[in-house]
Amino acid sequence: ITDKIAGLGKDANYFSLEFFPPKTAMGFANLQTRLERMSQALRPLFVTVTWGAGGSTAQKSLELAEICQRQLGLTTCLHLTCTNMSRSLVDEALEQAKVLGIRNILALRGDAPRSEEYREEGAPPEEDSNKDFTWAIDLVRYIRKQYGDYFCIGVAAYPEGHSDESHPEHQSVEHDLPYLIEKVKAGADFLMTQLFFDVEAYDRAEKLWREHESGALKTIPIIPGLMPIQSYAILRRTTKLSHAKLPADILARLDAVKGDDELVKQVGVKILSEIVEHLQSRPDTCRRGFHFYTLNLEKAVSHIVEDTKLIPPTFIEDDEEAIVDMGPGSP
Ligand code: FAD
Repeated sequence: ITDKIAGLGKDANYFSLEFFPPKTAMGFANLQTRLERMSQALRPLFVTVTWGAGGSTAQKSLELAEICQRQLGLTTCLHLTCTNMSRSLVDEALEQAKVLGIRNILALRGDAPRSEEYREEGAPPEEDSNKDFTWAIDLVRYIRKQYGDYFCIGVAAYPEGHSDESHPEHQSVEHDLPYLIEKVKAGADFLMTQLFFDVEAYDRAEKLWREHESGALKTIPIIPGLMPIQSYAILRRTTKLSHAKLPADILARLDAVKGDDELVKQVGVKILSEIVEHLQSRPDTCRRGFHFYTLNLEKAVSHIVEDTKLIPPTFIEDDEEAIVDMGPGSP
């Protein structure tokens, strides 16, 4: 991923798309068709495949990653969590990723698995079966130790701070900062952020990261995470889960149309496009990229990347057009 970013033109922007593995064979078949269509029409720089907490989707994540990398030829980044699952599962995932030709891992700690994903409702919390990994940095170190530079490693960053079920008290961006720097010093190559709608909070966090006196975050690619708005209900649920703030003006624009799903989507595309354009207009030390949490859906993200001109040109078509444009008799 970082090689691809470095190879882009000086002013080029890029984007990536995130997918999660469907539960059924039918879901896989539908997603594969959609992925083919989306990758041809939108040409993302890379795609990412999520990993269920505790390895709950291990096989299906690898299956989807195989479709992306091998069958569709997309540069693929596999998310991998390291807590609440056995060390052998981490080893298997990394080995399998290598066999599939995957060169990118998003190294995450992961959360305690939710009951509906992993264990019987009401069951006591799972003992963490893996004492080797407590934080994401342990996975970054492990990958570097086992695989050297084979994998390009991404890590998570939180523009509005971090909180989760095991640490309900909110950790501020400032509190997270030394741990983020440590992850980079341990070998992370790029940062990918939690979704957000509050651009001012993002700008503040990016400034803090970029300007840290250690210089560790000065030039590393930071890819802001954006979630297209699919419906009012999904938006409220995901912002609650991720602790992303909905600024009052954005909420008011959505509240005004919340009874009409189609209008919510249209206003949502506008809101997300404005966020992208705001970031595009701000200088950064790196080429600007955007990561879209697609929720496996196609329309909203397609409109956003079209409206903000993020789709890269196809040079062959452009050349042909140029030749046609020159007309007969041209040199
Ligand atoms: P860490 O970097 O370990 O940090 C977690 C928290 O602990 C932070 O607040 C940090 O400041 C603090 N901390 C770190 N080290 C220490 C230390 N030594 N001492 C004290 N405090 C410390 N989850 C999934 O299950 N599957 C996915 O596919 C997935 N994809 C994600 C993609 C992105 C882009 C993001 C942003 C998150 C994703 N997550 C995913 C969620 C992630 O697993 C959770 O947010 C998790 O709670 C934290 O993971 P982390 O990698 O940021 O952890």
